[in-house]
Amino acid sequence: MGRLLAWRLSEKGHQVTLFDSGGLEKPAGACHTAAGMISPLSELFHCPLPIYQLGMQSLQHWPEWVSQLEQATGTRVDYRQKGSILIAHPQDRNELLQFQQELNAKLGSDKHDQLQWLDNKHLRDLEPELDRFDQGLYLATEADIDNRKLLPVLLKVLKQNEIEIRENTSVDCAPKAIHTKNGSEVFDLVIDARGLGAKQQISGLRGVRGEVMVVETPEVQLNRPVRLLHPRYQLYAVPRANNQTIIGATEIESEDRSPISLRSTMELSSALYSIHPAFAEARVIETRVNCRPATMDNLPVVEREPGLIRINGLFRHGYLLAPALVIQAETEISQLTQATEQVS
Ligand SMILES: Cc1cc2nc3c(=O)[nH]c(=O)nc-3n(C[C@H](O)[C@H](O)[C@H](O)COP(=O)(O)OP(=O)(O)OC[C@H]3O[C@@H](n4cnc5c(N)ncnc54)[C@H](O)[C@@H]3O)c2cc1C
Repeated sequence: MGRLLAWRLSEKGHQVTLFDSGGLEKPAGACHTAAGMISPLSELFHCPLPIYQLGMQSLQHWPEWVSQLEQATGTRVDYRQKGSILIAHPQDRNELLQFQQELNAKLGSDKHDQLQWLDNKHLRDLEPELDRFDQGLYLATEADIDNRKLLPVLLKVLKQNEIEIRENTSVDCAPKAIHTKNGSEVFDLVIDARGLGAKQQISGLRGVRGEVMVVETPEVQLNRPVRLLHPRYQLYAVPRANNQTIIGATEIESEDRSPISLRSTMELSSALYSIHPAFAEARVIETRVNCRPATMDNLPVVEREPGLIRINGLFRHGYLLAPALVIQAETEISQLTQATEQVS
């Protein structure tokens, strides 16, 4: 959130200083752990309507923003809008029906053709490796972004735009002031996007542990994110470059960031293996654990007071929601700027 906002504000001519308690090459935040799915429809099954509405707004901005970033830095980000596919094993077919009913009820007149049933032939046309499944659901509007490419590209563009970057500097945020262990600095406006680092300031903010694995095999080639619906496990598989696939994610009410548990490893691996047996020989090249910053109702918060905006609670939706929240912040900042100009 912080990096994206810093980039947008610097493009608009604001003088920006970016603080981070850690190093920016390998961020400690949830942003570096995430799978990068931008999936408003899939998330709507578990979440209230505003997540879907903000997510649909974000989908309108990502393609243009990614293209601007790629042009400015000459580096690819790998944004893909090829939809996503939901499947279930024959004995769990009701999961697909339930998903469809739930979404249609929540979407009401907005549903149009956003969910398409796929029979075996259409499923194979889109994802030849899923030929053992006889049906699925296709959510054509969904996208995903390679966050491990986006974050360095954002850092590169921030350096090109010559914004001031202060790494390894833990801060406290106050209206028009940043406090560090070396003293205080005054700014026209402070934007607090510290995720769980702002726990003392955002009422009810909590961490929700999430674990993902990265596996590698040339044997299974998926073209887009695939979700397996199951009564007990929820699995997604997000294909990345170099024959890699991110699989996830657990959702555990805990702020423990210790390494992935054996149980989670087994559940994620066996669910993946049930999609395609060739995943059995995939190599596990990385496991990632982090905590998602979440509010009590799992909705994002944008809090304002003169000289301070706090944006937090992005939960499992950082990439899904960030552009929509950035636009909200930009609108408020431009109103503030206009009001200040009128006074002076
Ligand atoms: C396993 C997992 C999978 C996920 N998958 C997805 C997904 O597919 N799609 C999606 O949209 N979202 C996903 N998410 C959620 C997403 O990662 C978060 O919603 C997002 O990272 C929140 O962004 P943020 O900038 O608010 O917080 P963070 O990404 O946590 O960043 C907070 C930043 O603030 C800095 N900071 C903290 N305290 C201080 C301090 N005192 N001073 C200075 N700096 C400080 C941190 O170093 C960090 O850089 C996933 C999360 C997890 C854990």
